[in-house]
Amino acid sequence: MASLNGTASNGSSGRGAANGGKPCLRVIPLGGLHEIGKNTCVFEYGDDLMLVDGGLAFPSDGMHGVNVVLPDTSYLRENQKRIRGMIVTHGHEDHIGGIPHHLKNFSIPVIYGPRLALSMLTGKMEEAGVMDRTVLKTVSPRDVVQIGQHFKVEFIRNTHSIADSFSLAITTPVGVVVFTGDFKFDHTPVDGEYFDIQRMAHYGEQGVLCLFSDSTNAELPGFTPPERSVFPNLDRHIGAAEGRVIVTTFASSVHRVSMILELALKHGRKVGLLGRSMLNVIAKARELGYMRCPDDLFVPIKQIRDLPDRETLLLMTGSQGEPLAALSRISRGEHPQVQVKTSDTIIFSASPIPGNTISVVNTIDRLMMLGAKVVYGKGEGIHVSGHGSQEDQKLMLALTRPKYFVPVHGEHRMLVAHSRTGQSMGIPADHTLIIDNGDVVELTPDSIRKGDPVKSGIELLDASRNGIVDARVLKERQQLADDGVITLLAVISTDGVMAAPPRVNLRGVVTTADPRRLSLWAEREITWVLENRWNQLARNTGGKAPDVDWVGVQREVELGLQRRLRRELQVDPLIICLVQPAPAGTPAYRGRADAEPDTRPAPRGRRDGGRHEGGRQSQPAPVQRQQSPAGSAAASASTTATVAAPARAAAATAAAVAAEESEHTGRTRRRRSAAAVSG
Ligand SMILES: [Zn+2]
Ligand SMILES: [Zn+2]
Repeated sequence: MASLNGTASNGSSGRGAANGGKPCLRVIPLGGLHEIGKNTCVFEYGDDLMLVDGGLAFPSDGMHGVNVVLPDTSYLRENQKRIRGMIVTHGHEDHIGGIPHHLKNFSIPVIYGPRLALSMLTGKMEEAGVMDRTVLKTVSPRDVVQIGQHFKVEFIRNTHSIADSFSLAITTPVGVVVFTGDFKFDHTPVDGEYFDIQRMAHYGEQGVLCLFSDSTNAELPGFTPPERSVFPNLDRHIGAAEGRVIVTTFASSVHRVSMILELALKHGRKVGLLGRSMLNVIAKARELGYMRCPDDLFVPIKQIRDLPDRETLLLMTGSQGEPLAALSRISRGEHPQVQVKTSDTIIFSASPIPGNTISVVNTIDRLMMLGAKVVYGKGEGIHVSGHGSQEDQKLMLALTRPKYFVPVHGEHRMLVAHSRTGQSMGIPADHTLIIDNGDVVELTPDSIRKGDPVKSGIELLDASRNGIVDARVLKERQQLADDGVITLLAVISTDGVMAAPPRVNLRGVVTTADPRRLSLWAEREITWVLENRWNQLARNTGGKAPDVDWVGVQREVELGLQRRLRRELQVDPLIICLVQPAPAGTPAYRGRADAEPDTRPAPRGRRDGGRHEGGRQSQPAPVQRQQSPAGSAAASASTTATVAAPARAAAATAAAVAAEESEHTGRTRRRRSAAAVSG
């Protein structure tokens, strides 16, 4: 996954000109490189900007509460006046999933794409309420569309795991660029729509300046087997099943779903569908004629339970172990309509996308533990990839014979493997570029080079798909998940004295430190800030009380405590300091901070001139019970020794403190009681 704000912004400088001012074609992938997902590519010439695909990716571990990942589109927003249109190659989420969100942020005058992809996109755009933001135009094989002044795009039928998929031949002022999209060479396609190899060869014959080709399976030797090859294996497993058959696959694998429906019909099983995307895609694909089967093959899930198990096939989402998908919920016994039976045969007709492997195997384990027969894995021949392997990639290179070559759609090692394949076919290394998201490929009729990168990175959306999870929020969530949270309540008067002992509360923090020590440190940070930073944080505006930057005070205390915890305990919890201002003249609380030597620079003398109550201790902050047993047990000897005396004193004087506090910080006390209750 790309890092946040991966590369520096460069605006649009140098656009359309390279190599001594000669005009050039600029190709800028904003997503899809060094990853599988969020494919988004920009083509620019002169004042024209054209987009190819607008995909999304799914969050990786550590992206807490993130629902989808999109590329950073700052570059597109900055240059939106130049966007002339978009081309969609096929209907997979990593190619169309980001478009509804983009349309909320910048306008795309027209989107051309295959019928199935645009039909799926329509559903997403309706849901997002952006139907009026663009015009969708359906294309057929060999259609040529003009985008802006400088781009002519021909749609060349290819074969992939979804129906209605295209490669592109893009004619530009510097030459023809072939952009393969996702493909494999499947000579016996399930839907009878053959790869238009002739057209690809035609462009190869005329001369292709540059090939941008799918690298997903660049590490795998041989040809990717045809989709049809899984049919006999699925047939065998479904035929042998004694009870219900449950099949999971990608909803968007239209060919696979077609074959499963065909097999259900063959074996006299009615089909129940589970999962929103499964229902949506099948409805769309049947409506458009990409799947043909009788209406009465399908039975609503509530009624299918009345049929004998031997006459039932359930087709559902969850092949990637997605926590909320149907099969995952069934495996956890959380599905309202379907419970696993020991006579069930459950078929995983998909392979895990890298990153999902653990959730997939966990789902398989749970299903097996419930007693079902689970069919999964490479050896069963029940899944093939929709992406070409090395020999497919060689065939593409052979057909197009490009002058320059840029491997795309893949993680870094796949791009490297694909570039080696190119070299083995005579494309020199210096005619090949391995690029990252945000890199700019500058092409002229006789050169290829990397220009200055544009801003790239990721945008993270929460479950509503509206809220952007920015870098700071993500960091905070990671901190919460990894190290917990410490809240710190401080009472500080407007004339800069600590008026009560700070209240420290821990949630999810594992530490070997005695909780009293933490409150001692908190106290010391507050004291330090008041003694060293108050002059900068409080401005005397001539009024009764100075104008205090309370947020600044909180921030300084948080930073100080954070540094200390990192240094002394090697933990990095999220720290939230809340300051409750008290009126000027509130008597100072002088706490235990004096009882332990501070290692920070000596304060520049006392400024409060108030009562000195050294040695008197507050009651221990109510953090004890959040301490993990291990943490308490592990409290180091030196820590215990340091705090033992203050702790005893604290117990002895707790009542006195409480009584005194109630005089002048009644509100604090109430708040603490509330905190204690809520804690
Ligand atoms: Zn695809
Ligand atoms: Zn893809």
